[in-house]
Amino acid sequence: MDERSERFAKACFSRYYKSTNISINHAEKREFGFGNFEKKIIFRHISFKDNDHLLRYIREHAPPFISYSPSLYKFPDARPMERKVWEGSELVFDIDSNDLELSCQKGHGRSWVCDNCQSAVKAETLKLIEEFLIPDFGFSKDEIRVNFSGNRGYHIHVTAKNISDLGSDQRKEISDYISGRDISIREMFPTIGKRSARLEGPKPNDPGWGGRIASGMIIALNSGIPALRSLGMGKREAELMYGNRTNVILGITNGNWDKVSIPKKEEFWTGVVNTMTIKQSDSIDGNVTSSVYHLLRMPNTLHGDTALLSRPISSIHRLGEFEPMRHAVVFKKGEEEVELIRDAPALYMNGMTFGPYKSGAKPIIPTYAALYLILKRYARSA
Ligand SMILES: [Zn+2]
Repeated sequence: MDERSERFAKACFSRYYKSTNISINHAEKREFGFGNFEKKIIFRHISFKDNDHLLRYIREHAPPFISYSPSLYKFPDARPMERKVWEGSELVFDIDSNDLELSCQKGHGRSWVCDNCQSAVKAETLKLIEEFLIPDFGFSKDEIRVNFSGNRGYHIHVTAKNISDLGSDQRKEISDYISGRDISIREMFPTIGKRSARLEGPKPNDPGWGGRIASGMIIALNSGIPALRSLGMGKREAELMYGNRTNVILGITNGNWDKVSIPKKEEFWTGVVNTMTIKQSDSIDGNVTSSVYHLLRMPNTLHGDTALLSRPISSIHRLGEFEPMRHAVVFKKGEEEVELIRDAPALYMNGMTFGPYKSGAKPIIPTYAALYLILKRYARSA
């Protein structure tokens, strides 16, 4: 980023932190990490005596990225990690739209985030909570907290008491389950490889993934062709299945999955199962669920790639109506002239649409939109 843009962004961040109180529980037991506008974490293993000292540091430096450990430690600044003496951690899931392989990303690239990206990642987050955490693991809504990450994802924290002591292996098991990593199609459909044998499969009341797949299929069959297509079925297969749905549903209820003949069964059912799993971040962010050493964006801090707030959402009910590009917007005062350094798609923010812009355009736009385009490297301070 050029110096002038960086100075502008830095001044905005500094102003924000000077006028806001932020706090985190157990501040003295957490590890913190800080980044600049180029890199999310340039140093970590930082600890503070208490929340006041943390706040003082944030106000003095206004770091573009502020990360904290969901884990609590006896000595949060000790290194290497083993010497910190781990004292427990919430269970955390990280859902990011870049991991969802959305078709819109082919058009706008991976750094841009459109409405479709935002609604897809929210749907995935709700799916994790409503189809896995609550029914399969028995967590209650009060034991689940959701934070918008500040860019294109959500962090889901399970705060249930018995969770805190779970070790890495157990966390990995939970993560593997919801990602469907341990599903074996051949175990679930024992006759799948055998020619001319009837395809035996799970029933809706089976526990775990078997029941989930059987009842998911029945729900889709009852909903119609688009629901079947969204499970990854081709047009022809979906139409065939739907046309014969009474028979197919009856079959699945009895564990007989052979009511419609499908070529390449193993490939086909693997594809269907894949659409039912949760896609977790495992690229840049590492495996947040199983790695207790991972740092996350601190709630109520600014995201250095967007200037949006990493906002806690008060309840799961509220998540449905949460709009990041409206509810996580700060810097609503003032305007700024920017110069586009590349073509930018239309930007929808705070109920208004800005652009699309051609490279070289010099619009005067609200501070939040200027910061967004600058930090995403689409524009610079003019
Ligand atoms: Zn998109």
